[in-house]
This record gives sequence, structure tokens and C-alpha cells, in this order.
Amino acid sequence: MDYSKFISEHSKARNPSSIRALMPYMNLKTVISLGAGQPNAQTFPFAGMTVTLKNGDVLEMDPELFQRCLSYDATAGLKQLQDWLKELQIIEHHPSVEFDLAIGAGSQDLLTKGLEMFINPGDAVLVEDPAYTGALAFLQTQDCDVVGCKTDDGGMIPEAFESLLENWPTSNPYGKTDQARPKVLYCHPTAGNPTGVSLSEERKRSIYAICQKYDIMILEDDAYYYLQFDNKRIASYFSLDVDGRVLRCDSMSKILSSGLRIGWVSGPKELIERMNMHTMATNLQPAGIPQLMAYELLHKWGHDGFFEHVAQVSKFYKEKRDLFVDGLDKYMVGRAEWVVPTAGMFVWLKLLNGITDSFDLVMNRALKKQVVAIPGDAFMPMGNKTPYIRVSYSNVDKDAMDEALRRLADAIDEEVAS
Ligand code: PMP
Repeated sequence: MDYSKFISEHSKARNPSSIRALMPYMNLKTVISLGAGQPNAQTFPFAGMTVTLKNGDVLEMDPELFQRCLSYDATAGLKQLQDWLKELQIIEHHPSVEFDLAIGAGSQDLLTKGLEMFINPGDAVLVEDPAYTGALAFLQTQDCDVVGCKTDDGGMIPEAFESLLENWPTSNPYGKTDQARPKVLYCHPTAGNPTGVSLSEERKRSIYAICQKYDIMILEDDAYYYLQFDNKRIASYFSLDVDGRVLRCDSMSKILSSGLRIGWVSGPKELIERMNMHTMATNLQPAGIPQLMAYELLHKWGHDGFFEHVAQVSKFYKEKRDLFVDGLDKYMVGRAEWVVPTAGMFVWLKLLNGITDSFDLVMNRALKKQVVAIPGDAFMPMGNKTPYIRVSYSNVDKDAMDEALRRLADAIDEEVAS
């Protein structure tokens, strides 16, 4: 694919850093480096590191890698971790197009770099409606028009997506008749945040075909991919890609640790290189020590061990989901409607009985009753009011779920009665 039409002016203005390009040579044992401003690691006070796992196992960081990770290292991340993750992508997604991979400070770091690479001021950008608030917060700074794509109980609706594009610019919700058709779709197909809904492979295939027809890049943000409750995970856009039009963001945040801040992006080499230039100009590289911790663990586990771990994590959330749905059945019937999630940690509750705007209910009545939910308007790409709220079962036990939903039900009843 020729990516030039997709790359923003901002991204085109980025140039490779000669200092960073020379870095692989500086690490070679045969080379004498008078190069970049690498501080001398002998002055660093850290001698070594061991990490204790919850099962009692002790992970000893490889001394040489530990010293390397205390210093500046590759822009795209620790080579050993990159290789491990590349292998994971091959085992899990069987990509049919060549891809490269870079590590970032969480998938947030990478998805915003990806968006920046594609968007020029004045562009229309496609997102799901509702969409992840963290992506919307970034898009709000990009001087672009965020266009929401209709969703239903099964996620993004292919027919509505096609109609939006076919009838562009008449279908443009901003009424701009001279605006070019959008060229990027940002989406979160698994356990969408906020809806908790996962898109079927069938819908993905239809949406992918529509993106081919209208030449649209897909930025697949799949932070909850490994939290699917069914052992057979739904095929990703990355795995369906035959053109090189998918840029996929993954995250360790929901499966190893969110504080490690490790995400990875997979996609066409040319695009990953552009994103690396962004990293060179902003945060230089992902932090070394968290990458080493993750690598030592993943290396010890192997890919099979990793899959066993994610199976345990998804089982944990599935059990929470079951308890939470029991609570919803007890307290929310007649007050709200919901779709039972098949992955992740969210339920998107549609409040009934004439409630059209959930904001006040959540920010006043619910808070007074000591229960926190997220008002749905935070996820509205075009800023409209909504009767929805997002509730999460990730961090509550059975009793707390029961009590929280009882309080929420009281707050809803007060709102309806007012
Ligand atoms: N995408 C989605 C849909 C998310 O919900 C989140 C975290 N809330 C992220 C990306 C960012 O995750 P991280 O940066 O921790 O990988």
C-alpha cells in the first residue's frame, strides 16, 4: 500500500534522529563509541534486581540486560521483548501481511501516536459511538471532526458504516459539504470501553471490506483482547488484514500490570517507523526496567505459560461478570437495560423511565449515596447527552456489588420521581 495519503503533515515533518540511528552500533562490543550522550552506567547506584511472584517464584533479572535497561536503549523497545511479542502476534493472530512492532508506554502512548500520524487539522475521523474517552480526549486536541459510527448490541453496525461513507458528504454530521471522506477508523472491537460489547468476526469482515472499498485505515485498539471469556478468541482485524491497512495496539495493562505501562503496536513497517520517529522526538523510548520485568517473566513462562495466565485472568473476570449480572437482575430490571458482556470489565447501562441525561444522576444523586459510576456523556464522540452510564465490576466483591447496585437503584428511583 502507498501510505503517503494517510500520513499527516505533522508526521511527514518528522525526520529520523541520526543519534538514535547510530545507537545499535554503539552497543556492539567491537565498536568504540565516542557517540551520543550516554551517561556512564558505572555511576548508577543499582546493582541488580529480583522480583518475587505471587506463587513464590523469584525472577532474577539477567545482569547484562539489567545494566542495559538502566541506560538509554532502542526507541522501539527492548529487542528481546520486541522479539517475544512479535512471536506472540504470529502465534495468536497468524498475520498474512508483513509487520513490524514497537513497544510504548502503555497502549495509550501508541494509539495517540498512531492517531497523530493519520490526522490533519480539518479531517473527519471515524470512531465508534460511544468511544473510549481516552482517545476522544486526544482527538479533541487535533482540530479534527470526530464522527461517531452507529453501534448496537453487537457493536459497530456494518450497514450504517457503509451508508455513512456511501452518502458522504451528505451524511457528514457536521454538515460540511466540502470535507473529504474520512481515511481512518479508530475502534475498540473487544469489550469496547464503555459498552463492554465485542464485535463478531462476521461484522469485522464486513467492516474490513467497507474499509477496503473506501480506502480507510483501521486503528485497532484491543486493550481488552485477552479478557475474552470464551477460550476461542474472536479473530482480530490484524489477523484478517490482507492489505496492510491495520495498525493494532495491544496492552499488558489488563493482564500483567497497568503500572508497568507496557503496550505494543503492530502494523506496516513504514508506519511503525513513523511512530518511532515520534517517540524519538517525545519520550525517546519506553522505560527499560518495566520492559525487563515483563520480558523476564514472559521468557520464563514461554508463550504457553502466557496463554495459561490470560486464561486465569479472563476466568477471574468472567466470575465477576456472572456475579454482577446477578446483581443487575436483582436491582436493575425495570430501571435499566444492558447487554451481558462476553469479555472485559464494563456494563453499559441504559437508564429507562424517561431519563435522557445521566450526568446529574451520577454526579449528584449517586455520589450522595456513596456510589460511583461514569456518566455516559464522557464517551459521546459528538458531545450529546445520553441516558447511559458505565459501570465496572473489576474491583468489587459480591457484597460490595450488591450494595453498590442497591444504592444506584435508589438514586435512579429518586431521579425518576423528581
Ligand atoms: N484503550 C482502551 C479502550 C482503554 O480502555 C485503555 C485503558 N483504560 C487504553 C486503551 C489504555 O491502556 P494502557 O495505556 O494502560 O495500555
